[in-house]
Amino acid sequence: MEIIHHGAVNGVTGSCHQLIIDRQNSLLVDCGLFQGAETSGRDENELLSIEFDISTVKALLVTHCHIDHVGRIPYILAAGFDGPIIATEATAALLPMVIEDALKVGVTRNRSIIEACLKRLNHQLVAVPYKQWRNVSLSGNTKTKVKFQPAGHILGSAYIEVDVQLESQPSKRIVFSGDLGATYSPLLAAPKSPYKADVVVLESTYGDKNHQSRRDRVKSLERVLTKAVSDNGVVIIPAFSIGRTQELLYELEHIVSYSANEKLNEIEVIVDSPMAAKFTAYYQQFQSLWDAEAKRRIKQGRHPLNFDSLYTVDSHQEHLQTIDYLAKRDKPAIVIAASGMCSGGRVVNYLKRFLDKPSSDVLFVGYQAQGTLGRDIQKYGSRGGYVFIEGEKHYVKAGVHTISGYSAHADQNNLVNFVKRIRHQPQKVVLVHGDDEAKTILKEKIEAVGITATIGV
Ligand SMILES: [Zn+2]
Ligand SMILES: [Zn+2]
Repeated sequence: MEIIHHGAVNGVTGSCHQLIIDRQNSLLVDCGLFQGAETSGRDENELLSIEFDISTVKALLVTHCHIDHVGRIPYILAAGFDGPIIATEATAALLPMVIEDALKVGVTRNRSIIEACLKRLNHQLVAVPYKQWRNVSLSGNTKTKVKFQPAGHILGSAYIEVDVQLESQPSKRIVFSGDLGATYSPLLAAPKSPYKADVVVLESTYGDKNHQSRRDRVKSLERVLTKAVSDNGVVIIPAFSIGRTQELLYELEHIVSYSANEKLNEIEVIVDSPMAAKFTAYYQQFQSLWDAEAKRRIKQGRHPLNFDSLYTVDSHQEHLQTIDYLAKRDKPAIVIAASGMCSGGRVVNYLKRFLDKPSSDVLFVGYQAQGTLGRDIQKYGSRGGYVFIEGEKHYVKAGVHTISGYSAHADQNNLVNFVKRIRHQPQKVVLVHGDDEAKTILKEKIEAVGITATIGV
């Protein structure tokens, strides 16, 4: 057996791992898109094409529906892959929407091409419940089963256990972490380690960092909001539609409803993103996957993702009207809009209008990659500088804040604990999905607890 990493090996995007079981059989875990700086200097065909032999791939296992884990699915379908695409029930519900959006944004607006792709996807998609073994049919006498376990990263996310029984040999257990969630993140429960593993393929996004505690994070959030209401400004939060937006809404509901500051109790929260609204609806539909605290709030009659002062903006017309409305009046508001790194999407229009107002605030809740508008605002805004938006110069007079930890990713401690707490410990942990620095430091930390770790190549 062998594991080949086709992506998320020198960085964090393009996740795609192939488990070669024998000469006739292999499984693929994720088929994601390369993004951001990790695409620079490489030609587009090379990035999008499925450059490896897929003739032995018997199934595609999907850990979760972030685009860097699923974005190349249309390309593998186009390359002729006709096996099952296996995912949890929640991921299977979200996936067609994610793929449709990815096709519209990056590939084509041609309705019939999009429909054809979605039809094939739906035909091949197999939804499985968490925590149950499922056989995958292979050629020959080798037997394989897979199990999806809650990963606590975003709705539907899983780490995947693969159990391979080669003829007349003891079975081998390979665990693919996908992206793991952090402990104490709102809404979803933290992942529990698997019972046993021979090999773990582990993400290392935050292999070199520990997050701010949840309590500190909520305090920072409340501090920014308090300032915003004091000068009646607009708080702009650039956020990704899946995961982070819902975590934020969950925390905002608490602050807005229970703060001692009356002005905060009255603040409007505006989600200006049809995609985010759709995903939020799915988060509500799959309440059975929420953690104990979130379920308790529901029991108390609260609506953590759909509270009274929450508004969603749908059409583009409504989006433009909302900006005018906020600019004209003298009342505070919180706006959550994509994209998370301000490299496009509706958030750009808000920035154009509000960035030069001292009463405004921009609150970053996620990593801002090199070369994005988000990174420029972080960098120059804090020195009273300016940025260019669509070729126009805009002074940053708004307050600029960054809160770490709303990233739905395990931090260093969480990652080390994930492998340390495997009852039958693995012979080897293979580190992927991280910058070199993060992987190198995590490797040391894992070896310090007596487990062999290597960096995936
Ligand atoms: Zn992810
Ligand atoms: Zn990822």
